Parts: sequence; C-alpha cells; structure tokens
Amino acid sequence: MTPARNSAVGERPAAKKTKAVKTKKTPEGAAVGAAEPRAAESRTALVRRARRINRELAEVYHYAHPELDFENPFQLLVATVLSAQTTDLRVNQTTPALFAAYPTPEDMAAADPETLEQLIRPTGFFRAKTKSLIGLSAALRDRFGGEVPGRLQDLVTLPGVGRKTANVVLGNAFGVPGITVDTHFGRLVRRWKWTDAQDAEKVEADVCALFPKSEWTMLSHRVIFHGRRVCHARRPACGACPIAPLCPSFGEGETDPEKAKKLLKYEMGGRPGQRLKPPPDYPGEPAPPLGAE
Ligand code: SF4
Repeated sequence: MTPARNSAVGERPAAKKTKAVKTKKTPEGAAVGAAEPRAAESRTALVRRARRINRELAEVYHYAHPELDFENPFQLLVATVLSAQTTDLRVNQTTPALFAAYPTPEDMAAADPETLEQLIRPTGFFRAKTKSLIGLSAALRDRFGGEVPGRLQDLVTLPGVGRKTANVVLGNAFGVPGITVDTHFGRLVRRWKWTDAQDAEKVEADVCALFPKSEWTMLSHRVIFHGRRVCHARRPACGACPIAPLCPSFGEGETDPEKAKKLLKYEMGGRPGQRLKPPPDYPGEPAPPLGAE
C-alpha cells in the first residue's frame, strides 16, 4: 500500500463499520462521524475499541517508524535526549556533525562543553542537553563498558534519561517492547479515554494493560504519527480523521471535512516523516510536498 496523494492521511482500506458507531465517509475516504453517545464503557468494550483504533492506525500509518536518524543504540540515545522540546527533523539536521565529532561515548565524555554546546545549539536548551550528553557518556564509559545497556532499570540511571527516552531506545534499538509517552501520546490516549491519568508512568501502565506486549512499540509510533499529523493539541482535524467513529472526543476540533483537511500537517525530510538518512528497509515512500493534496 502506498500513501495516497489525494487523501487526508494516506490510502487505506475502508474503515470497518462497527455496531457502536455511525460511519460516513468523505470523498477522500476518511471516515467522519461522531460516535453515538456512550453509556459507561465496559472494560471489554474499551479493550476492543482501543485495539480497533490501533488496527485502523496501522492501516493508515503503515509506514510508521522512529523518526530520529540513528545507526546504533548510542546514536539513538543521544538523538532522543536532543529531541526534547524540538522536532525530530531539527535533531536529524544536527546529529551528523555531532556524531562525526564524537562517534563513541568515550569521545563524547571527553568533549569540550563549549564546543559540544555549539554543535547542538539548534536543538534548544543546549546547555542542559550538553550536560546530559557528557554525563550520560561518562556513565556509559565508566559503568557500562562504553555500551548502551539494554535494560530499563539501567538506562534510567543515566543523566537526562527518563522512562520515555529509555523506552524509545529499548523499543527501537533493542527490540524490547515499550510504550513511549510523549506529549502527543498522552494527549491522544486521554482523548480516546484509554486513561484519564496525567502522570506519564500511570499513562504508560494503563495503555500497556490494553494491548499485548508485541504491539507496544509500533502502537507508540502510530499514535505519535497521528498526533503530529491529524490530532493536534490546539485544533485537531476531526473532520479528516480516519478514526473519528471510534473517538469519544470527536468534535473537540474542526469537524467540517474541507476545513479539517487544511489542518493536516506533515513534517518531512523528503519522505513521509522526518528522517534524512533512512535505513535501507525504510518503510516509507516519497511523500507529496508539504501542504500538497
Ligand atoms: S479528537 Fe478528533 S482528530 Fe483527534 S482522534 Fe478524535 S476525532 Fe480524530
């Protein structure tokens, strides 16, 4: 399946109709419609609806993938620390020079802080991030033999590394399933009533309980893709949203299909995503220019 050039978020099979929702389609194929008023949802119904959303997202974002460029666990760890408060595209534009200057934890641990600050300056908060990068590199050198550990309990002991960063590294560099609760993920799963928690750790636990482990990493990518492209913080594009029939928050954003279409966003580095150096098995295909239909 290839991303469609004339659809809201990508060509996909028709959304499956369910008894619980009324579905109508826009000419572009996006399913649009409000869920019927819900009685209190049983646990079983919640699990079913959550898994249905995941399946729909898997069809829409069949090309979902980590959007940070990396070639090894150390690079992914560094890139993820840098990605705080900035876009993955900005990080991908910054890391080639950084990794050329400091290819290993030993090199980065010995970096001159001012030189490193200048290299990562475009990502913002560069003083704090420099401290984290030098600190975590020294910890890798001194405590982990210069290797990134593959266990959550070890990763979170590194300076500047919390559960979110640790789960990104585990899921994408080690194949250990993990849920990544970033700002998009938390917002969307609360809109979907998968949880009402604000605390990231509680959100992670609530969402983990709805899915088998094998889904955790890809679910995180799909939800984040949807948050970046359709279900925005301020004006979600409800009228162009392919999972509107399954969403209890339909109507929180623009419901008019034409107006909603104009709200869709793609953040690209030349492909449907933000990677500048995609790996050979990269799942995406060239995307239309930003804002094109
Ligand atoms: S709030 Fe709107 S854009 Fe977000 S998932 Fe629900 S229907 Fe889609």
